[in-house]
Amino acid sequence: MYELLIVPDARLRQKSLPVTQFDAKLNDFVQHLEAAMLDGMGGVGIAAPQLGLLQRIVMVDCSLGRHKNKNHGRLLMINPEIVTYDGEALGREGCLSVPEWVGTVPRARRITVRYQDLQGQFHEVVSKAFEARVMQHEIDHLDGILFIDRIISTKDMLRRMDI
Ligand SMILES: [Zn+2]
Repeated sequence: MYELLIVPDARLRQKSLPVTQFDAKLNDFVQHLEAAMLDGMGGVGIAAPQLGLLQRIVMVDCSLGRHKNKNHGRLLMINPEIVTYDGEALGREGCLSVPEWVGTVPRARRITVRYQDLQGQFHEVVSKAFEARVMQHEIDHLDGILFIDRIISTKDMLRRMDI
C-alpha cells in the first residue's frame, strides 16, 4: 500500500501540506510509518513523504540500535516546527531514501520543536545532539530537502560499505 520512495523520485522534492484532520485515517497511516521506520537500517527516523504521503508528519526514535545518546524515545511529530536553533555541530548522516550514501552535515546542536500529537494537542520538546540532528533531517523532508543538499562537500560523500 505504501512503498519507500528512493531518489530521484520527484515526490521526495515536494513540499508537504499541514495535517488538518486528526482522524482514524491519520492513525492508520502512522502505523505504516512506524513499521517502515522499524524496517529501515538504523530505524531512527522517517518522514511521511518518504512513503509518498505529502503531509507534515515525522517519527523519530533514537532509543534504538547503536544510538544510546540522551533521547525522548519514540516521538510522533505532526506539523512540527523548529522554533529555536542553538549552536552548530557536524555529524554523519544517511537516509532510507538515499540508499548506500552517507555524508557529513552541519546541523544546530540544540533545537526546540513545537508539534502536534495524534489528537491534535500541541507540545514542545527541547532536543540536543544526535536526536536533534535526526529531527532536523526528518523535518527537512517535509520541505523536499535531503541531507545531500546540505553536506559540507561532495568529496565527503561516502558509500555506506566504506564505513
Ligand atoms: Zn531521510
